[in-house]
Amino acid sequence: METETATPDLKGINAQIARCRLCKLGEHARAVPGEGNPRASIMLVGEAPGFYEDQQGRPFVGAAGQFLDELLKAAGYSRSDVYITNVVKHRPPGNRDPEPDELEACDGFLRAQIAAIQPRVIVTLGRFSLAKFIPNVRSMREVHGKTFAHNGLLVCAMYHPAAALHQGSLRAVIEQDFRMLPAIVARAEQSAASNTAPSTGEPTPAPEQMALW
Ligand code: URA
Repeated sequence: METETATPDLKGINAQIARCRLCKLGEHARAVPGEGNPRASIMLVGEAPGFYEDQQGRPFVGAAGQFLDELLKAAGYSRSDVYITNVVKHRPPGNRDPEPDELEACDGFLRAQIAAIQPRVIVTLGRFSLAKFIPNVRSMREVHGKTFAHNGLLVCAMYHPAAALHQGSLRAVIEQDFRMLPAIVARAEQSAASNTAPSTGEPTPAPEQMALW
């Protein structure tokens, strides 16, 4: 999907990602910078590419991606409405967890993508993505479906779609969380239009959960 022409900045960032050798992952894997609407209100941030993403150079095209498409549809969106990326832009071998130096190497790219796209809402998919924005969260069970104010935008914590593939009982939970997205986006857009900080619609999170980038 080539939808990045309207934002040369984002194109440039993604070209840098394609050439990146800041960590060892780029030596053996194909870059998966991200794709979607460069002016999206919603940015979804997963963990790292897997086998099929590495083959195609596109995020979320395997089984978890198919479920993500269903979740977006249930919330009234399609892939072309949103921007989809990962915290780590190359596949870790054997789909292992990303290592600290790999997360660090990609950090600037994710920040740059957010700055270029300027989404109103970031949906974090899974714990590695959430940890980029909200440190010290002990379990996804505590925070999934919750929204946090962060640097003028809203960060919405969701389970990783792959979690539902491993644990079927999570499917309905994730679907329910995704269905809240339109209301969250509407709140964020209202705040932007009135130039006020977006409201999470929930009690303010504990200070340690507000210590973000
Ligand atoms: N899982 C992720 O976190 N990202 C992808 O792109 C695919 C699977």
